[in-house]
Amino acid sequence: MNDIQKNLTQIKARINLACAKAERDPNEIKLVLATKTVSSEKIKAALCSGETLIGENKVQEIKEKFDSLSAIPHEKHFIGHLQSNKIKDLLKYKVTCVQSIDRLELAEKLHKRLVAEQKTINVFVQINTSAERSKFGIKPENTQGFIREITKFDTLKITGLMTIGLFSAKAERVRTCFRLLKNIQQEINQQNISGIELRELSMGMSSDLEIAIEEGSTMIRVGTAIFGQRVYPDSYYWNENTNLILTQKNNAAPNTCD
Ligand SMILES: *Cc1c(COP(=O)(O)O)cnc(C)c1O
Repeated sequence: MNDIQKNLTQIKARINLACAKAERDPNEIKLVLATKTVSSEKIKAALCSGETLIGENKVQEIKEKFDSLSAIPHEKHFIGHLQSNKIKDLLKYKVTCVQSIDRLELAEKLHKRLVAEQKTINVFVQINTSAERSKFGIKPENTQGFIREITKFDTLKITGLMTIGLFSAKAERVRTCFRLLKNIQQEINQQNISGIELRELSMGMSSDLEIAIEEGSTMIRVGTAIFGQRVYPDSYYWNENTNLILTQKNNAAPNTCD
């Protein structure tokens, strides 16, 4: 077993334990491989161990890794802050869900492009549950109004909510963020806005996935615990207008799992 397989086994064990504690079925939890800065080689190792879903933060990285991953079946979600001028590329590289819809202007531009291409896409609304100014996302109290507004963009299939929990060693404060997201989901589903149903709650990362699962997560996004520490600070990924080019070997020849 390689390191990535070992780490995946550990993650599965953590998911199972958290589910047992919360009396949930582990099959309800989807694992998104958070692959920012991770080379195609490592992503391949994870996909060839049976994983099927990756989440990228930058369109540029999706582009760089596209060819070398093209022979291995998998699904791609976008989980980073999306700049409007990257929408065209995003669609070109077959992203099936944008988990990080965080402003009206983005929803509108994405819709316009999808109309032009005669496509639809799944989207989650990103909520800033920790009230940290450094984080993107709709304010919890504005969620319902925001969702009502974007339902007019009928190419966007609104199927879930996403959040990044507070970075804190205090578990109860992290839990508050996740509980808030669950409450917002329930509130919105009760309103039956244009028939939309939020099925997915994308919450929980390497350090807080157990808490997220206990609070109702259906999708955890895990990077470090599978691929190891990242070279770049996360602030690079969570801020706008940064365009550092990664110099990794992402252009290895496409190969299959055998
Ligand atoms: C990087 C990232 C993750 C994964 O974080 P880890 O702590 O490495 O597991 C999850 N979600 C988003 C939006 C990220 O940018």
